[in-house]
Amino acid sequence: MALNASFGIGGPIRRVMAKAHDAVTHLIHERTILLLTVMFCAGVAATLWHLSHLSSTLVKSGALQGTSLYSESLTELRTFYNSDVVERVRSHGIEVTHDYATKRGAIPIPATFTIEFGKHMGQRVPGMQIRLYSEYPFPFRKDGGPRDAFEREALLQLRKQPDKPFFRFEDFQGRPSLRYGTAVQMRAGCVSCHNSHPESPKTDWSIGDVRGVQEIIRPLDSAVAETREGLQDTFVLLAAMGLAGLGGLALVIGRMRRTSAELEQRVTERTAAEARLAALREINVAITSTLDLHRVLNILMEKIDVSFPQIAVQVWLKDRQSGKLERAACCNLDEADWKERQLTDTPSLVKAAMASKRPVVALNVQTDPRTLDREFYRRQGLVSYLGVPLVIQEEALGVLVFLTREEHQFTKEEIEFLSTLAAQAALAIHNSQNYQETAKLATNLGRSNEELERSNKVKDEFLSVISHELRTPLTSIIGYGGMLQDGFFGDVNREQEKGLGVLLNQTKDLLALINSILEVTKIGAGTMVLEKEEVDLKSLLDDLRSTYDTPLDKDLTLIWDYDSHLPSVSTDGGKLKRILQNLVNNAIKFTDKGNVTISARVMEGPEGYGQPATDDGQEATAERQQSLLTAPYVEFRVADTGIGIPREALPVIFEKFRQVDSTETRAFGGVGLGLHIVKEFTEMLGGKISADSEPGKGSVFTVSIPLEPQH
Ligand code: ADP
Repeated sequence: MALNASFGIGGPIRRVMAKAHDAVTHLIHERTILLLTVMFCAGVAATLWHLSHLSSTLVKSGALQGTSLYSESLTELRTFYNSDVVERVRSHGIEVTHDYATKRGAIPIPATFTIEFGKHMGQRVPGMQIRLYSEYPFPFRKDGGPRDAFEREALLQLRKQPDKPFFRFEDFQGRPSLRYGTAVQMRAGCVSCHNSHPESPKTDWSIGDVRGVQEIIRPLDSAVAETREGLQDTFVLLAAMGLAGLGGLALVIGRMRRTSAELEQRVTERTAAEARLAALREINVAITSTLDLHRVLNILMEKIDVSFPQIAVQVWLKDRQSGKLERAACCNLDEADWKERQLTDTPSLVKAAMASKRPVVALNVQTDPRTLDREFYRRQGLVSYLGVPLVIQEEALGVLVFLTREEHQFTKEEIEFLSTLAAQAALAIHNSQNYQETAKLATNLGRSNEELERSNKVKDEFLSVISHELRTPLTSIIGYGGMLQDGFFGDVNREQEKGLGVLLNQTKDLLALINSILEVTKIGAGTMVLEKEEVDLKSLLDDLRSTYDTPLDKDLTLIWDYDSHLPSVSTDGGKLKRILQNLVNNAIKFTDKGNVTISARVMEGPEGYGQPATDDGQEATAERQQSLLTAPYVEFRVADTGIGIPREALPVIFEKFRQVDSTETRAFGGVGLGLHIVKEFTEMLGGKISADSEPGKGSVFTVSIPLEPQH
């Protein structure tokens, strides 16, 4: 019970104390300057009050001391005058009278002497007055009686206690003054004179009686004014010092506030970056855990939904057969509404992201003129749009679209982050698409022939191992390496950056090699599909050129020589690009200094295009060959000033795994698949390739592709 009771009381008190503590802490942190100013003003006021009090006490005690001394001196002077002057001269017949000024040879009585002396002193100390008054004044003294309350009280008090002075600080004639009264007592010499004087109003005086009061009135206004002036100076000094101090403090606090705000912002940014990183890591692990495209997309949607529940997502993917963009998956929006709408065309924003291979932003899709179906976005309540292309090895597989439900300006960091997410998704999608194709190939082959079945099973497993076991970790290495390089895990120093650069380059080489092996395997199995589309040759070359924008680490110049009026060709742009990429990469690899010239020009026939592939796999007939010979074509040339190729090696370099120098100690990397792919792809496009070279001088590779579609 007792415990309960004590808790019952302690609880609210503690809560109140905690609240008060919080309020004080809040005040100190949030209103520091205001608090300091108030405290400073209070401090100045208290100091001034204290100083003024102190100085008035000092003024008073100084005045009291001086006046008491003066009063004593005056009493002594009167006593001395009475006993040593008046008594002596009187015996010589000299008259002692109050009226001494009008009588020759007379001297003043002690009281008159004191009053006159007081007047004299009053001229030296301005405002000071000496008063003698009594309850029994002589009739000739007009102002000899008490004139005000102080004087009446002084007479009363001093009669009771003659040895104790009676004083008060009060305004006298409008000036702050010290009024200091002492008792005037009857002495032996005075009593006889007073009792016998014909005009004396009282004649029964005895020794020691209080005859009256001697009062000294000392004005204090000049001393008070001096003190006030001093106080004013002190106030100005204190205020100046305080303001300077406050100003300094305000500066320091301002600086500290800024620093702490910066720190807070950094912590927030770092926390947000870590949260994004964790989300990325989780998404990456999840989407690379399977090679089934459907599952990859489902997991991607699930993970995005969990990490960013307020964002709607659409995935557009290019169909590998038809080349058309299709709606593949979505989350946080009505899937049926999105997928079942009839669209007249692919939305412009999606097309723009695909074509530029860069993120595309629209602040409000409900009003943006590029939006195809604004009504849909209004229905779904979706406003701001970010379309990030799913790019892998310069090829856009599709677009990942992020949509917010309120107008939102996507920041640079958000776009970077979502682009990283899209890059990871692109890798996973690409892997699963490749795997699915390979699996299909394996199944087809398996059906055709008993004997092939076994070897295809081996090939299937091999491809599966390559696709999954090699590509998946490589994807992660490239993803994490990129994030490390971008500073996602904290700052990276120059040495680490260099190391990461090497690591990423090697990994990308390895990935390229694995991709080449997969391509060669597909070519060998006859499952490489031609994806024809209308290809603008100028854009294709511009695109290719932009991938070589970064400076090379050797003394080599890339010269791009092509006309801006190159035509469009109906061909497989991806394969044509790969052909040129392989040739340019080789030229750069085998040339230490000089030039690599890439040229393209349209030629009119006659020129042979070799044996173009036909849809049914039949060789071209004689007439078709004839027509081909005269058809216009486009000729691409990649010429370098590198090491060249010996004449006897020229016929074999297009074969699989053939290299001029295949020794373990060769100076150049590679496995001898690049030119084989070039030749195979060229032939698939109905074109032909030739090579010419002079060792030590350089090589020229020429690829000719027909302009007209091949039927
Ligand atoms: P690799 O991966 O070895 O480059 P490629 O199939 O692309 O394989 O080339 C096969 C070989 O042809 C190379 O190893 C090299 O010996 C030779 N070669 C190709 N292009 C050039 C070039 N531009 N200059 C000199 N040699 C070349």
